[in-house]
Amino acid sequence: MTWTPTAEEDRHFLSLAIEQARTSWDEGGVPIGAVLVHEGEVLAAGHNQRVQKNSAILHGETDAIEKAGRLPASVYRHSVLYTTLSPCIMCTGTALLYEIPRIVVGENRTFEMSEALLRERGVTVDVLDDPECVALMERMIAERPEIWSEDIGVETSELGR
Ligand SMILES: [Zn+2]
Repeated sequence: MTWTPTAEEDRHFLSLAIEQARTSWDEGGVPIGAVLVHEGEVLAAGHNQRVQKNSAILHGETDAIEKAGRLPASVYRHSVLYTTLSPCIMCTGTALLYEIPRIVVGENRTFEMSEALLRERGVTVDVLDDPECVALMERMIAERPEIWSEDIGVETSELGR
């Protein structure tokens, strides 16, 4: 990559993903957001659309990638994906397909499924451990566990196992 974001830039782009997560929660949805950034320029921002669009596959990350539209391979390969939550296996698959080389994660305390796989495949995963990202997830898990369990393909009774 020719563009190497500073720690300050990482915080900035994560804050845009957090805005998306807040918007989603305010809309009654799952509070997870993401931003795809190429050479310092935001290509697209998105958030989980399970509730809003009745979608089974638009997570924060896949919504941002979808909104960015058709891109040449070389663009993905020089982009950074910022996401408020550690990616699930579906979003990890999407990132691996397009060879996105770096993912900046807001937090992985409430959910972590695929970081080892990403790193094994050469992706840089940086976890910022942001308290607001944790708080958004904790509130959803406490107040609306049914939308969270649905989002990760488990029954509500299986959460926390
Ligand atoms: Zn996902």
